[in-house]
Amino acid sequence: MLKMNSFFSKVMLFLVAAVLVISSIGLSPASAQTPFKDVSSSDVEIDYLYNRGLIKGISHDQFGPDYSVTREQAATLIGRALGLNGTERKTRFSDVSSSSYSSGYIQSAVDKGIITGYPDGTFKPKQTMTRGEMAYLLSRAFNLSSTSAVFFSDIKHDTHQDSLYTAVNKIATAGISNGTGGGNYSPEKKLIRKEFAIFLARALDPRFKVAFQNATIDKLYSTTDNLNVRSGPSTGYSIMGQIDTNDEVQVYGYSGGWAYGKSGHLTGYFSLSYLSKAATKPTRVMVIDAGHGGSDPGAVANGLREKDVNLDVSLRVERMLKEKGITVLMVRRTDVFYSLDYRAAYGIKNGGDAFVSIHANAASPGVSGSETFYSASVANDSKQLATFIQNRLYKAMEHTNRGVKEYDYRVIAANPLPAALVELGFLTNDADAAKLATWTYKERAAWAIAEGIEDYYDWKQR
Ligand SMILES: [Zn+2]
Repeated sequence: MLKMNSFFSKVMLFLVAAVLVISSIGLSPASAQTPFKDVSSSDVEIDYLYNRGLIKGISHDQFGPDYSVTREQAATLIGRALGLNGTERKTRFSDVSSSSYSSGYIQSAVDKGIITGYPDGTFKPKQTMTRGEMAYLLSRAFNLSSTSAVFFSDIKHDTHQDSLYTAVNKIATAGISNGTGGGNYSPEKKLIRKEFAIFLARALDPRFKVAFQNATIDKLYSTTDNLNVRSGPSTGYSIMGQIDTNDEVQVYGYSGGWAYGKSGHLTGYFSLSYLSKAATKPTRVMVIDAGHGGSDPGAVANGLREKDVNLDVSLRVERMLKEKGITVLMVRRTDVFYSLDYRAAYGIKNGGDAFVSIHANAASPGVSGSETFYSASVANDSKQLATFIQNRLYKAMEHTNRGVKEYDYRVIAANPLPAALVELGFLTNDADAAKLATWTYKERAAWAIAEGIEDYYDWKQR
């Protein structure tokens, strides 16, 4: 919400207004009541308008709240409310005679651009008003100009100045209408006298206004991580925040290829290209363990410490997996030591579904290349995970392929999740170490591991 302060002030204004209404209008026995038997004491707007001489009943004791409102009645009521010249006189319309009670108000309203006739020169004074026409009438009569993020599912989003959407938006923004419920405005519905009175009272007096609240008309889910929430329906608008895969969006309305709605604390526009009807994508939660850390440097050779190389590549893998919509749990993101048993238990404790530990090797200087380990003592999928990674890794590193191997390293053997341990290359080998010192090859290694992990998930999903 961009204008939180303004929103709260509106809410406060409404609460204050509600108290004022209850204490001073209609409900108090001391104030003037209407004579209408078909109006309840809670119809404070009708009381308000009646006591100011702005509305009359259909008889001495009947208001006729459910009767429809004709175009000439609307022109007359608005004309009275605005203090327009109501003197009966000749009009420009062939079907409104100068002796008609409404002729003066119709001509005045037309002169002010509040109401228009039809192209054939008629006004159709006895035709009933629709709620859509009332929106035009009020927005023009009260010179409403402010609009906001207002959506009704039965009105096409069209920000053109003369559109029905814009007229309805203006009266909603002005606190005159909240629609007819369920996210609808019902523009084609005939306007009844009670609604007219409510609209008019809200337009005239802020104490009657309502704070507009969009209704949820759909629930959609993000298909990606880091989906931008924007302040308007195009990529040209500012970014207010981001949501992640499977986060729910309560949709208030649509504008072109965008949904306007709320997700968590964020309210704004979401691209429909990244929303789906159901959170169908299976959850993918990968645990990445950067080997060693803190007091344990791992292998040290050729000016490189294994713990640093492992962490650097692991953080790159994290970034790339997130870009693929895969959730990542990092055992460590800083230079800190954790025991092997802590690492082995970390994933299952935190909701992970597979585990990859990232290392670099040491041996005699002539030994080089990449290899990936799995432990046969745990889940069957471990070998597949190791294979998908290794098949990508040695090619990306332009390394000797030392293969996929079984070995019961504790961090994978004691791990209840499908788990693989990657050896990027040998720090003790000049060529391998030279590569692992560069941005390019660390990025390539990370890319290979992330792709291999995605291969694994795609294979699992099959
Ligand atoms: Zn290691």
